[in-house]
Parts: sequence; structure tokens; C-alpha cells
Amino acid sequence: MTGAIYPKMAVIGCGLIGSSLIRAARRAGVVDEVAVTDLSPEVLKRVHVLGLAEHVTGDVAEAVADADLVVFAVPVLTMGEAAKKAAHALKPGATVTDVGSVKSAVAEALAAELPDNVFLVPGHPIAGTEQSGPDAGFAELFDKRWTILTPLPRTDEAYQGAVKRLSAFWTAIGANVEVMDEKHHDLVLAVTSHLPHLIAYNIVGTAADLEEVTQAEVMKYSAGGFRDFTRIAASDPTMWRDIFVANKDAVLEILGRFTEDLQALSRAIRWGEADKLHDLFSRTREIRRGVIAAGQESAEPNFGRDRDKH
Ligand code: NAP
Repeated sequence: MTGAIYPKMAVIGCGLIGSSLIRAARRAGVVDEVAVTDLSPEVLKRVHVLGLAEHVTGDVAEAVADADLVVFAVPVLTMGEAAKKAAHALKPGATVTDVGSVKSAVAEALAAELPDNVFLVPGHPIAGTEQSGPDAGFAELFDKRWTILTPLPRTDEAYQGAVKRLSAFWTAIGANVEVMDEKHHDLVLAVTSHLPHLIAYNIVGTAADLEEVTQAEVMKYSAGGFRDFTRIAASDPTMWRDIFVANKDAVLEILGRFTEDLQALSRAIRWGEADKLHDLFSRTREIRRGVIAAGQESAEPNFGRDRDKH
């Protein structure tokens, strides 16, 4: 037990990530009291039944009142609208953060709505599953995963203190913390998460549209690689729609590079350049080994669930 880092935490949006955060914070004993609000009455009912929070309300302002830490865990394009409802009720000196998968657009949307007397420290836990909702959450989700904080360019001591405190919170609930510039975050995540999802959505879509291969065959023989793509392509449509809209520039930049490399591969196949193919496949095998060595492989002990990175 670490002792409460934030006496009261308010979570706006109690889906997979919001509910996991509550479970992890309770497990670590770093909050005394939790308030939850969500747009969905069904979610609020489930939060109540699951006993996740002391206060469960449909009113954002009511949830954030007196909270020392306010976490926005709603889809990326909804952050600004949720912050607008909370703004007038925030406690002066509170730390406000989020878990959105894109940082530049979210930081801008939140900053536009929040008052000057709170500390905005945007964040992103690089952990998730393809599930949604409060029942899908679990306390171990963030264990040994990275959480990236993208603080504002403020050097005053009070703000730096708020960043340190939030970093201590994430560390206490099991995560590794890295501080990064928001633009760099968006580029890194475009490579490691957004592009892989786009490829998965595309390949599963292509297979579904093929006329020469039946849907039954696609499912029956999916172990040949396709199966792993279907898991990624089962990720929440709202969340991923928002990510591609909000991280357009970085995704298009990486997609441009990817398309060039794909063209080169296509040429190598057409001209039978076996050595070129072998060289690439050997290099990528090394990257896979690096991922495993970094302890970021989801098939390792993961509490019986797939945790991949968004
Ligand atoms: P989720 O399971 O769908 O939960 C989001 C919840 O927020 C839903 O219950 C939703 O209600 C509610 N909501 C939407 N707009 C709201 C508003 N204005 N006010 C209050 N509640 C609102 O989603 P999630 O997977 O936890 O994702 C939440 C955030 O975490 C996203 O920004 C995502 O980018 C980020 N993230 C996700 C993952 C992941 O793997 N899933 C990983 C890292 C970060 P309705 O269903 O009624 O809309």
C-alpha cells in the first residue's frame, strides 16, 4: 500500500480504460474515493453494480467537484465537449489528465476548455485490449506497460510538482512512465499502433470483399496469419475512427513511407529478388526479438487476456 496520492479521483467515461484505472488505483491504494460519470446510463448502472465508485452520476460537474485528480477517459474527439461540462466545477489546483490515444489534438481540445487554475497534464497508457466497457476492465492492464505523459511547456514549480505527482500515481499502479513531446508521441504511436490498426482494418476488409474466396474459407484457414489481424480489426470502431481523424498528419506521413516500402516489396516479388526479401524478413525477425526482450509481448504472462497497444 502506497497511501493516497489523490484523495478523490473523478473518472469521466468509465469504459475499458477508465474502469481499469479505477481498479488499478484501488489495488494500489492510491485513491480514497472515486466519482464516475459517463454518457451511457447502462454504463452507470454497471459501475454501480460492480461497486467501482463511491459516487456514480450522469452529471459531469457533480462528478468532478472536489476531485484532486480528474481523468478524461472518453473517445478522443469527445474530450473537448466533456471538458466543457466539467470546467466550471473543477477544484482549483486539481490535476486534470486524459488517457486519449492521440496527444496533440486532445491537449489542444482540453486546454481550450479548462480554467487556468488547474494543472493539465495529458497522458496515454500504452495498454489496452479490443474490448470496451466497464466489465472489460482489469487492475493489471497497466502493469509493466508504458504510460506516456506529454506535459505542457510550463516550467513553474507548481506545474512541475503536478507532473511529478501524476507520474508517481502511474508508477504506483504498475506502469512505467515516460515524458515526451506531444508531437513526437503522435508520430511514434502512428508507427507502433495506428498504422498496424489501419493495415488490419484494411486486410480484413479486403478478405471480406474477395469474390474468389468464400467467407467460410477465410474463417476456416485464418490461422495462416489472418487470425491475428482479425483480433486487431475487432477494436472499437468509435475509438479508432476518432484516432485517425485526430492524428491525420502523423498517420498520413507514416502511411506514405509504408506505401513506398510496399511498392519496393512488390517489385522484389515481381522480379524474383529472393535475397532482398530474405534480408528484410531477417531484419524484422530481429525487431520481434527486441519487442520480446523489452517485455512488451502480449503473449507473455498477461493475466489471461490479450493486452495490445493503442
Ligand atoms: P470505451 O470502453 O468505449 O469507454 C468510453 C466510455 O466513455 C463509454 O462508456 C462512453 O459512453 C463514454 N463517453 C463517451 N463520451 C462521453 C462524454 N462526453 N462524457 C462522458 N462519457 C462519455 O473506451 P476505452 O477503450 O476505455 O477508451 C477511452 C479512451 O482511452 C479513448 O480516448 C482511447 O483513445 C483511450 N485508450 C484506449 C485504449 C484501448 O485499448 N481501448 C488504450 C489506450 C488509450 P457511450 O458508449 O455511451 O459513448
